[in-house]
Amino acid sequence: MKKIIPVFFLSLFLISSFAQTSKTVSKPKLVVGIVVDQMRYDYIYRFWDKFGNDGFKKLVNEGFFCKNTNYNYVPTYTGPGHASIYTGTTPAVHGIIANDWYDKSSGKNMYCVQDDKVASVGTTAAEGKRSPVNLLTTTITDELRISSNMKSKVIGIALKDRSAILPAGHTANAAYWYDGSIGSFITSTYYMKELPLWVQEFNKKELAKKYLSEPWTTVLPLEQYTESLPDDNKYETIGKGEMKPVFPHNLPELMKLNGGLNIIRATPFGNTLTKDFAIQTMKSENMGKSAATDFLTVSFSSPDYIGHAYGPNSVEQEDDYIRLDKELAELLKAIELQVGKGNALVFLTADHAAPEVPAYLTDLKIPSGYVKENKMVDSLKKYLTKTYGDSLVLSFSNQQLFLDHKAIDSKKYILQQIQEDVALFLQRFPEVSEVLTATTLNNNQFTEGSRYLMQKGYNAKRSGDVLVNYLPAYIDYMPTGTTHGSPYSYDTHVPLLFYGWNIKQGNSTEQIYITDLAATLAMMLNIQFPNGCTGKPISFLVK
Ligand SMILES: [Zn+2]
Repeated sequence: MKKIIPVFFLSLFLISSFAQTSKTVSKPKLVVGIVVDQMRYDYIYRFWDKFGNDGFKKLVNEGFFCKNTNYNYVPTYTGPGHASIYTGTTPAVHGIIANDWYDKSSGKNMYCVQDDKVASVGTTAAEGKRSPVNLLTTTITDELRISSNMKSKVIGIALKDRSAILPAGHTANAAYWYDGSIGSFITSTYYMKELPLWVQEFNKKELAKKYLSEPWTTVLPLEQYTESLPDDNKYETIGKGEMKPVFPHNLPELMKLNGGLNIIRATPFGNTLTKDFAIQTMKSENMGKSAATDFLTVSFSSPDYIGHAYGPNSVEQEDDYIRLDKELAELLKAIELQVGKGNALVFLTADHAAPEVPAYLTDLKIPSGYVKENKMVDSLKKYLTKTYGDSLVLSFSNQQLFLDHKAIDSKKYILQQIQEDVALFLQRFPEVSEVLTATTLNNNQFTEGSRYLMQKGYNAKRSGDVLVNYLPAYIDYMPTGTTHGSPYSYDTHVPLLFYGWNIKQGNSTEQIYITDLAATLAMMLNIQFPNGCTGKPISFLVK
């Protein structure tokens, strides 16, 4: 016995001395989450020689690059993307099944951050009637707020409302987004009654107007854009008021025909404006200056608008990234000025990626093409009307068919049989690669491939009856520019970079999923996982 007691006391002593040496848990002063809308992971390397040392290269050279980060659901769109990054789960759980969807309960269209119970703040337009009310789970930013007894400050900003609101979560101090009708950052009564004075002052500077007062010219001489197709090519959308899709883009003139100050979204100056506002937010809100960790979410929306108009191989997109690299450098510098080098944890990722323009691939003899969804659904309706005496279709959106359950019940048809009949009919279209019914998804557990991704994007309460997948490089879009949403690598493979607080330099090619990001942040910050989290911490980052 005598020998045991000293050991017991010794261990008590060791425990208490350990507790004394680590009085406080180490944590960053500030977390900054950066999302680049529609950024593909390969852009880092494609534009590497054109980047400066303090933007993307700094994140790679001094931070950790998870080179094989993938979305693990469809559809790969902006709303679900931002929700998944910050909730650590997929639409099956967080409920943001698309940017907008057919709402089964009301029979109306639902926008992912629509909230008719709140009012606009900072504008008379309806653009402010937004909140995270449709998001069913907590975000990592919510968990940070809860863990600090609401002392941590969380603010989300972006040009797109959904890209500001979903990252900031339910308990955010604020989210601000851009109203192009007045060229200002606005919010909603979900967050506050009126814009803070500093936001009003920022808006008074009329920076959008200033940035649009000159033509968009290339930042380097045109002949140096060797990573892209010639400026004048047939795969780019010609803007209203232009004869060719080429530089210089005369913004002061184009503004008049293309929605005024809204046009900034589809120019690199949308990124400039976002960066300006992000830096102002950090300063005016004293972020990273208190004992609790603060969290700023910034999403750069413009690369997505530019990708949709011109595609990934355009001089426009290359110029956008060369310029974004400079904005990023400025933002990183401002973050370190705000809290000191090493005191901020920064990550950068994307909400989805994008395919090459299919028309371009077709010219390269690569299987690709365009789906005519409207025609497909019309012929389905005709078939169903002929067979069942009613089209039975309420909506086709986000590659999901919503059947009229009431009509099916009243006619005493069996839902599962109609679903299967529809699936067989749609499967015959040459562009359709596979079709899954809701019944199949409810009764099976897929573990890999596109069926797994369709299941992770399927929310039993909100999703449709029949889910359709198209062949690789087939999109429902115009023959210029591009769009995204598929389960294929070109849409799911995104960059993920960590930099700053407790991050060692390195990179990994291990496959990780976007849902692992929030779980990793929870481990780094020693806080609870978001309540629907299905991701795993990235082991080599949290060791
Ligand atoms: Zn997006």
